[in-house]
Amino acid sequence: MAPAPVERPIVQRLGALGSLVPNPVRDLARPLARRVGLAAPPGEWWQLGVAPWAPPRRAERRAGAWCNVCRWQGASFASGAHSEFAHCPRCGSIARDRFLRWCFLTRTPSPGGATVIETSPRMGDDYRAMMKRWFDYRTSDFDLGAHSGDVQLDLQDIDLPDASLDVVLTAHVLEHVPDTGRALAELFRVIRPGGRMYLQVPLVYGVTSVPVEPEFHADNTPVFFNFGWDLTDQLRAAGFTTTVLVTEEYEQVLRSGTTDHDANVDGFHLDQLVEHVRPDDLTAVATPEQARLVGFLPGHHFATWECLRP
Ligand SMILES: [Zn+2]
Repeated sequence: MAPAPVERPIVQRLGALGSLVPNPVRDLARPLARRVGLAAPPGEWWQLGVAPWAPPRRAERRAGAWCNVCRWQGASFASGAHSEFAHCPRCGSIARDRFLRWCFLTRTPSPGGATVIETSPRMGDDYRAMMKRWFDYRTSDFDLGAHSGDVQLDLQDIDLPDASLDVVLTAHVLEHVPDTGRALAELFRVIRPGGRMYLQVPLVYGVTSVPVEPEFHADNTPVFFNFGWDLTDQLRAAGFTTTVLVTEEYEQVLRSGTTDHDANVDGFHLDQLVEHVRPDDLTAVATPEQARLVGFLPGHHFATWECLRP
């Protein structure tokens, strides 16, 4: 179900409409529209007037690389193909940032104006300013001082009313939370019926396990779980309707049941991932052409749980 309709500023609505108008016409009309206050002023990427959910235009689809955060296009991303790299030279997004956004914006009907919480977004002030232009957007951060108005991060005890959110975006946080069940119950509580969550964790093993050796990520927070495909069971136990969003390329690898290819690269245990996958729980969301354009390569680096609250 779509989030509850929210009145959006005229610039947002015109931005969404503008994406339907052919490029040369829009380029000619924009200065006039700006003069009479009907279009966003020229500015930095986070001030662009094109709605974030507008699909890439034909010229953008022809580029070697295209960023769905800032709509940069160019020959290639600034670093190699990897979920933690393939940096956008303009906004600094990495490939997994773009995959999370791709999942959110291609799967959510009429996302504009939705009440969104994102847990500890990796991207900084420019990104957050852009999100606040299009959504009722807050982040949950450790350093609340730097982002006043945002909420405290403790997924096990979320300081928000019941059914108060349309969308939760959470990437690479759940594995740092000691009590998964309690966190998922809290997330379910604060999401409205009909609302949704896009959840990323590093998915490098087939089955959930506890790290044998203490494990830390870059921000020095301990890892409590290395999740596998069975995270789906915990999400369903919490009440969510869920599927795992992947690229068409990765879906084919997973459904093939074979690991003849060069398995277990970049720390991904592809043999286990193929062995333990539940094919019925997969949904492909990016064609090979889209994956190439936005940088979702290699395919096995990209998986996002879509969790719907019925
Ligand atoms: Zn970008």
